[in-house]
Amino acid sequence: MSIRTRLTLWYSSVFGATMILFGLILYYTLFANLIQEVDQSLAQKADQVLDSTQIIESFFIPYKELILPNVDVFATPDTFLQILDNKGRIRARSDNLGTRTLPLSRETVSLARKGSGFYETVAVSGSKIRLYNVPLIADGHFIGILQVGRSLAQVETTLSRLRFLLIVGIIITLFAAASVGSLLARAALRPIDKVTKTAAEIESSEDLNRRIAYSGPNDEIGKLTTTFNSMLARLERVYNRLQKTYSAQQRFVADASHELRSPLTTISGNVEFLKRLGDADAKLREETLNDIHEEIQRMTRLVEDMLALARADAGLQLEKKLISLGSLLNDAAAIARKRAGAVQFVRNTDKTLDEVKVFANKDYLQQALLILLDNAFKYTPAGGRVELTAASAGNKVGISVTDTGQGIKEEDLPHIFERFYRGDTARERGGTGLGLSIAQWIAQEHQGEISVESEWGRGSTFTIWLPIHQE
Ligand code: ADP
Repeated sequence: MSIRTRLTLWYSSVFGATMILFGLILYYTLFANLIQEVDQSLAQKADQVLDSTQIIESFFIPYKELILPNVDVFATPDTFLQILDNKGRIRARSDNLGTRTLPLSRETVSLARKGSGFYETVAVSGSKIRLYNVPLIADGHFIGILQVGRSLAQVETTLSRLRFLLIVGIIITLFAAASVGSLLARAALRPIDKVTKTAAEIESSEDLNRRIAYSGPNDEIGKLTTTFNSMLARLERVYNRLQKTYSAQQRFVADASHELRSPLTTISGNVEFLKRLGDADAKLREETLNDIHEEIQRMTRLVEDMLALARADAGLQLEKKLISLGSLLNDAAAIARKRAGAVQFVRNTDKTLDEVKVFANKDYLQQALLILLDNAFKYTPAGGRVELTAASAGNKVGISVTDTGQGIKEEDLPHIFERFYRGDTARERGGTGLGLSIAQWIAQEHQGEISVESEWGRGSTFTIWLPIHQE
């Protein structure tokens, strides 16, 4: 059963029950009032008759004689009078009774003997009559009963009209209440229908972009809509993030397989060649073996880099401690000096910064610096210059590697941090295209970032920005 039907049923039942209760109270209050009115008029009439009745003593004590008034004087078309003696014999009767007599039961006599008047409703020839029985007492002796009756026909007509009105009224109002209740329930539940419909549409179309349009007040439905919409927004964000990660992973796997295939092809080609060559040409054999060795080294680098990025993707947390900038720069510079080759390497760092502390993993941070330094050596021709500098700006320190090498083309600049992205000349220099991705990840793991400035043909500056640890 739908909520709407249930609400309507509940509403109608409560409304109906209230109406019936109200009707019953009204009906019985009116009924009691009408009977009370009749009773009062009967009592008045009885008093009038009693006032005109005389009881006289006879000679034979204790016999007493009733001198009765003409009861027809007191009777009206619907008021009947009857007087009985203490034996129950009718002594006087109003003419409007015709052949009928007012009933006198044994209980009536015994109650009258006890001395108090009382009311009862009796049926006389099929019509209801309200009866007031008054005992006639003289000197403490019961000598007869006065019965004053009145037809209840008028009261019954009034009550039956009221009954009819109440029943018809209750049926009509119940019907109206059910219709209004149903309409109200529908209006109140319409936004929920909308929520359900939109949710179903989103489910079938898999379009997490959609939201439920709602312009009403911030009531229960408003809150439901807001919650539902923010849940959708969250779902959309998570879904997009997952989708992005998933396609990044797919691209990574595809690129990685592609990158690994080319050294393998070269190696296998060279091995074939060696097999065919045999011992024929020792020099050529030596060169081919060197080629193979170079390719294996390249592959090893590639696999190591891929492993580093895979660990990063798996959410590797670096262990960090406080280190001084000086020790980091010293160690990086010592290694760089050995790798500089035909390029001039200069460490030109501000000594006052040596004591600056950063919260870092020294090995990884050094790896990031060496990636930048190695790139600088790689892309700077012999005779060029590579400089390692450090400068602070606000609560950050920037470690820069500046070279006077080939620089980066403008169209390459936005892509160099992408995985496997290599500039035109990088391939023959043995690059994997993963170095800067790793360096960037390391910087980000230290709440830092890498910036780059470069001009094609003039050289580049890469800077790792790190937050300075405040004591
Ligand atoms: P690679 O292994 O190819 O060097 P990286 O991710 O380290 O991969 O660098 C991506 C690309 O950025 C390189 O292929 C190169 O084109 C460019 N690049 C990086 N550093 C420099 C530099 N110091 N001078 C010129 N180009 C650079």
